[in-house]
Amino acid sequence: MQRTLRQNISLEGIGLHSGKPSKVTLAPAPVDSGIVFRRKTNGHIETCQASIRNLRPMELCTTIGSNGFQIQTTEHVLSALWGMHINNAYIDIDSEEVPAMDGSAAPFVEMIHAAGMVSQERPRTFLKIVKPLHVGDHRRGVSILPSTTSKITYSIDYDHTLIQQQTYEYEWSPKAFQDKIAEARTFAFSHEVEALWARGLGQGGSLDNTIVFSESGLLNDQGLRFPDECVRHKVLDLIGDLALLGVPVIGHVFADRSGHFLHNQLVQMILDNPDTWILVGAQHTKWAALSNGSLHGKKTPHPVALSANSAA
Ligand SMILES: [Zn+2]
Repeated sequence: MQRTLRQNISLEGIGLHSGKPSKVTLAPAPVDSGIVFRRKTNGHIETCQASIRNLRPMELCTTIGSNGFQIQTTEHVLSALWGMHINNAYIDIDSEEVPAMDGSAAPFVEMIHAAGMVSQERPRTFLKIVKPLHVGDHRRGVSILPSTTSKITYSIDYDHTLIQQQTYEYEWSPKAFQDKIAEARTFAFSHEVEALWARGLGQGGSLDNTIVFSESGLLNDQGLRFPDECVRHKVLDLIGDLALLGVPVIGHVFADRSGHFLHNQLVQMILDNPDTWILVGAQHTKWAALSNGSLHGKKTPHPVALSANSAA
């Protein structure tokens, strides 16, 4: 069944890029809502669906916007909701950036547990991949292949003694997400950090919310949470970016030295190629129109765009 939160819960911190204070409240949402950002401005509520069609070009973080407002660095809170199998939720925010917290998704997972999760009265719809898709080139890329379950295999390769080649295999489940992925933090290299600041990015970045690698070691006193924390964080980011599909995907994603740009391209390519997937469980929802073939061959709207509670 679809899931949402039992009650509202709030958290405050600062934005990684803006450096400004930010408060988010996660709130229950009706069936088929998907994940929707909301912000109150001058007494009225602006909304923005967490959807690839609302993606805004932005370096280093996933930014979405519509109806005149945009939210930066959405990927970690989206990853927490998607990783914990929450299909429907409102994310109320009072600023332009989701707070960085400790640079991982763990604080958002704690919020979800504190709020509680409830099953709703309608089954989930899944997007099942039936033909492979690939974006990227010979150096970096991301593919999705048909599979009976939802899996991610992520590989990275950095010329740094503490990273080098790492591969992580992830099978989707709330328990695996919570135990193995949620705590992995954002990482950066010290030579990049000053360049970021010079360009006005990373203003809220610190060793409290980012792993910073120096030329031969690590600036964080506490060390790493996992020896392969970097590749686990890449899986975390990918899960957050896949949330922009609007429905959970059944397929095996292979990512090699990838990042947000390619993740987002893959999501767009999936939606642009409806002959590569079928919707499972869609007969229960307004998404049925997508799976009966009537929209094949056309640029396919985001599945959530057809739902009754779409914010679009
Ligand atoms: Zn990240």
